[in-house]
Amino acid sequence: MKCPHCGSRKGSDVIDSRNNTGAIRRRRKCHSCGERWGTYEYSDEDLKALLEQCMTNALEKSLNAHRFERRNGKEDNGSKAVNGP
Ligand SMILES: [Zn+2]
Repeated sequence: MKCPHCGSRKGSDVIDSRNNTGAIRRRRKCHSCGERWGTYEYSDEDLKALLEQCMTNALEKSLNAHRFERRNGKEDNGSKAVNGP
């Protein structure tokens, strides 16, 4: 596990671990710099479901943004189409 503070891969101690909502949250302490950070541990199935949900949400968001842009673009073109020299 790479330390997010110093980038060391020397290792870390788990100083606390909590099981909440299907994921295990661990507090870690870097062997190199002594800073603390947290990690989450999921089962394969939970992680897969979580990723699928994230990807679906992101896809819907970008589709909605695309529709919004298209709609606005059409309105703009319509109003600015009549422009004499
Ligand atoms: Zn560190």
